[in-house]
Amino acid sequence: MGMKRRNPVHSTLLLLTALQLFAAALSLSQSDSNEGVDETASRTLREEQPQVHCSRERSRAAWKIIEEYLLPFVERETYQLSSRCRLHPNNDIFRDQEEHKIHIDINDWQCGYCKKVFRAEKFLDQHFDNRHYNLLNVSNGKCLADLCGALHCDFAMNSQSRKTKCNPAAVARNRHLCEDLADSCFPVNEGPSVARLHEFFLRQFCDAHSCSRGRKPFSRGGRKHTSVLYLATSILILMLLPIFYLIVYLYKREMRKGTQQLKRISKPGRKPKPS
Ligand SMILES: [Zn+2]
Repeated sequence: MGMKRRNPVHSTLLLLTALQLFAAALSLSQSDSNEGVDETASRTLREEQPQVHCSRERSRAAWKIIEEYLLPFVERETYQLSSRCRLHPNNDIFRDQEEHKIHIDINDWQCGYCKKVFRAEKFLDQHFDNRHYNLLNVSNGKCLADLCGALHCDFAMNSQSRKTKCNPAAVARNRHLCEDLADSCFPVNEGPSVARLHEFFLRQFCDAHSCSRGRKPFSRGGRKHTSVLYLATSILILMLLPIFYLIVYLYKREMRKGTQQLKRISKPGRKPKPS
């Protein structure tokens, strides 16, 4: 009898949990079916995830700068960044995910973990946030976007220079962060090549943290892209040369024919036709 009296409470509890599970499953499938469209579904899902206070976009910008304006010079000195250096790829929480992006076509971005395809990079970013957040390198990770001040992300992201007033306090802070990076990533006591890289880092990144005009970041240049252009032009020239010679040859042959005809026509004393 006692068992029977407890039953209704039990069943309502069971029903409630079942309903909750059903609702959870529904929201999951919803966010799955319309990736990037159903904002609310993904937002509720995101609330359950560990909060990552690091901008993916700015981290990406910082990484692009490192790749373009620092790594070529580090490679030239055959130096290995230590993992204590905050510019080391291991210190970018998004690096693993970013390297699992497959850009198949202009409108096709594939997830390297589960092979799902998306129409735009931002949807793949959302997919990473929703589905693969457990793969974020948070435990030992640091936020590369935090170094944006030192690395001039804003300058690189807006290609045209903005007319904002120089803030001496912010400039000093960024310069300090920049010099700290130089010291921690390229300890001068480790040898002449590291000292050269230290000096390079100061010129390339830190000098531009100044309110004086005309100081632009990346003064030492970046990765050389000319090789591709050079190759393309040489191939084009090689392809056009035979065509050019063929045209010249045909033209000369026509000219020769023309003069022979002219000779034949001019023999009887008639006026030659201008061709
Ligand atoms: Zn995936």
